[in-house]
Amino acid sequence: MQEWEQEEPLIIERGKGSYLIDTEGKKYLDGTSSIWVNLHGHRHPALDRAIKTQLDKIAHSTFLGLSNPPAIQLARELIRIMPKGLKRVFYSDNGSTAVEVALKMAVQYWQQRRPEAGPKNTFFHLKLAYHGDTLGAVSVGNIELFHGRFKSLLFPTLEADPPYCYRCPLNQTYPSCQMACLDPIEQILKKRHRELAGFIIEPLVQAAAGMITAPPGYLTRIRELCTKYNVLLIADEVATGFGRTGKMFACQHEGVTPDLMAISKGLTGGYMPLAATLTTEEIYKGFLGKYEEFKTFFHGHSYTGNQLGCSVALANLNVFKKEKTLARLQPKIKTMTRLLQPLRQLPHVGDIRQRGFMVAIELVGDKKTKKPYPLEARMGHRVTMEARNRGLLLRPIGNILILMPPLSTSLHELTSMVEILQASIETATLALASGPRP
Ligand SMILES: *Cc1c(COP(=O)(O)O)cnc(C)c1O
Repeated sequence: MQEWEQEEPLIIERGKGSYLIDTEGKKYLDGTSSIWVNLHGHRHPALDRAIKTQLDKIAHSTFLGLSNPPAIQLARELIRIMPKGLKRVFYSDNGSTAVEVALKMAVQYWQQRRPEAGPKNTFFHLKLAYHGDTLGAVSVGNIELFHGRFKSLLFPTLEADPPYCYRCPLNQTYPSCQMACLDPIEQILKKRHRELAGFIIEPLVQAAAGMITAPPGYLTRIRELCTKYNVLLIADEVATGFGRTGKMFACQHEGVTPDLMAISKGLTGGYMPLAATLTTEEIYKGFLGKYEEFKTFFHGHSYTGNQLGCSVALANLNVFKKEKTLARLQPKIKTMTRLLQPLRQLPHVGDIRQRGFMVAIELVGDKKTKKPYPLEARMGHRVTMEARNRGLLLRPIGNILILMPPLSTSLHELTSMVEILQASIETATLALASGPRP
């Protein structure tokens, strides 16, 4: 905060397509999709129109004991595009909340549907996981910088190493390792499954950890293990959902259906806060019963099922169909891979990870030893400031640079983004190599 106060703050006033425009009228490419939410660009006419049209009817009415047409239609559309078997939709208003809902649903499901299974109320997750900033989500997360100081408030969980191939915790190499990191996971499941309500995972990409990409088949194996040991699989697709990985949902790359799925960020194309937790008919049925049994899922938010949010989410899904967003994304993903190739040669680029339109560039002080830059170097931040001066907005995670442009980004804009990124890395790493800046 102290440093931010001294820096020139950037105040965004407008947006158009892949650009953000500040109060001085300066244009910047939105290299983070406004932190992973925007899909079809800013001020998309169809999305703008959806909100204006809905506003002429009503902005919001409660979802507690009532329903509304956009929320009903959206639930129908979501079921249509989901992995097969996800049949029920529970709305909330942000990604963290969608995760909280999934965790609570899992625990209550086991109590009501399978009381004979005994108390199943702990969760299994990967290290470096990020599932949001509320306390339940933080409990199943593991990013020391964000979560460390709140440990005393968190519920206990079981953890295992993630498939972080660049810094393999087992010191092995893919594919000769044959995904040996799955063995400890099976060991823990075998021993502790009786107390486990669920296994929560960011499918294919652990985004906030710095786009840690799982090898093909990893998710399938996790699904198999969860089924075998009778543990619910919770897929957190808040970051990976809505086309980011190249398919509508990351689970669809491996034909996996989770028992619960959390979605938010891209759900409204980056327009309004809205989220949903999806589940199967089997879990839904666990919440049915007579009044006096109180099997209700007592969880509701003031803005659940908000009409403006649901309307723009419907328009968002419509744009996917109308503009063939996913089909048009495929060549752009290939172009992205090609554009990033030369960056691998840079002396301080340790690793580049890409899955679809999600990219991380891990900067290191020493490429041979993979030694990270010291914290004081603020290398991620330096590169970001260089990029900003060149007209590209980024937000790094420590020394890992993230590029996650809107799916609608043109080839020309994509090329500019990567060119600016390269120049910014070169300038910032060279400046540090030649001594501290004045
Ligand atoms: C961003 C994110 C969340 C939290 O979503 P919010 O809307 O910021 O609360 C949860 N899970 C994943 C994987 C995310 O990337």
